[in-house]
Amino acid sequence: MKTYIQQRQQKLRESQTNFYTPSGIHIYIKEPVNQTVVSRALNMLEQRVPIHILSEVEMIMFGWFAEFDERGLQAYFDGGTIFVSNLFDDEIELFETLIHETAHAVEKTYGYEIYGDDKIKQEFIRKRQYLHDILWKEGYKMPISVFLDTEYDQEFDEMLYQKIGYGKLDGYAAGIFITSYGATSLREYFATAFDDYFINPNHSFLKKISPAVYEKINLVLSEEELDI
Ligand SMILES: [Zn+2]
Repeated sequence: MKTYIQQRQQKLRESQTNFYTPSGIHIYIKEPVNQTVVSRALNMLEQRVPIHILSEVEMIMFGWFAEFDERGLQAYFDGGTIFVSNLFDDEIELFETLIHETAHAVEKTYGYEIYGDDKIKQEFIRKRQYLHDILWKEGYKMPISVFLDTEYDQEFDEMLYQKIGYGKLDGYAAGIFITSYGATSLREYFATAFDDYFINPNHSFLKKISPAVYEKINLVLSEEELDI
């Protein structure tokens, strides 16, 4: 039989590794984290993101998952859960990662409202065409058809990430994409804009270069206009 002290210790451990945030997100810490970093990042998330948006995230699980090594990730969203690395030691980086995965939760739930009228797709394709022309001039010659495909494509991603490199790409994509990662796919185009909306309080640049996405983010944030 467990002693009173052992029971208290077990309860304390559980309260630190398996709990709910004030807005109702289930937090499960599977592998050890920096508690301060995690609690600060969760506070920022809950302070900045409206509750109806956060309700798309049922659980945040901290650990190191096989997909991270397989796909070179630190986080992903699947079936209502954000799986995120337990190794963050910077609360801002962790907060930004959680915002990004929240964006994927949102675009799954509000897929029709966000993508249904193709406005974001048209905006994205125009930017991809522009990027194609810039890269072509710089000697990275890939057929335009590759740039017109809005889904994630491994070959395209490898060209951006390995052949060109995000450092250089940032220069080519400046003023077209909010970050060069937004060029990866239509979904990442939405998610990187969503990140910027919550990370950067000044929305003027985002509104200027990505007006269609900006409009959709405002739409999903104004819950009363949605009939879901
Ligand atoms: Zn993403």
